[in-house]
Amino acid sequence: MTKTLQSWIKKNIISRYAMTNCPDEERCLHVLEVILDNESTPEEEQEYFEHIDQCWACYKNYNLEKAIRELIKRKIEKKPVPDDLVKSIKLEIEKLVIE
Ligand SMILES: [Zn+2]
Repeated sequence: MTKTLQSWIKKNIISRYAMTNCPDEERCLHVLEVILDNESTPEEEQEYFEHIDQCWACYKNYNLEKAIRELIKRKIEKKPVPDDLVKSIKLEIEKLVIE
């Protein structure tokens, strides 16, 4: 199941990351990783969240990345993944693909 979802995600969105129109995308994706790993400084966080208020591409990346991590964490902890969560992630991804 995890594998299926991961390959689905890869096929449908990872390649789309390159199609966002953030002026500073590479840096934003890096800061996003740092924040989600809880290794960011308060300054980085403040700057990032101010940025995603105005940057739709990064806002979407943030929410999607968070949802995917939540899903993977549950898998690792062997907690049941509610169908709703899987569904909402797929929906979120479909929205990205359509836009
Ligand atoms: Zn951005």
